[in-house]
Amino acid sequence: MQYRIRENSFVAKIAAKKLRCRQVALVLGKTIHLYNTTREEFLANPEWLMHELEHVRQFRQYGFAGFIVRYLVETLRKGYWNNRFEVEARAAERLPVNRSATALVQS
Ligand SMILES: [Zn+2]
Repeated sequence: MQYRIRENSFVAKIAAKKLRCRQVALVLGKTIHLYNTTREEFLANPEWLMHELEHVRQFRQYGFAGFIVRYLVETLRKGYWNNRFEVEARAAERLPVNRSATALVQS
């Protein structure tokens, strides 16, 4: 599973303001968008990395639009915390990082 990292992302900056979070990582397709954190800091945090990689996997499973629609429906019905995609991502945080199953593509 390939993924990319974009630092100083505009989308993540908007999300940070809206969610009133200092730091944000947000996945769109194969790209993990970061705001107020660096690639190094993010990659050094295994729970955070595994959480976001689970969202990359979900995008792959349902397709770009398919996942966004499902994610929004879940959020509207159950809220952010109980959204099943977030439940899955939080469960993934406890898994060991398998660096050979994922590949960070330099961009
Ligand atoms: Zn999440």
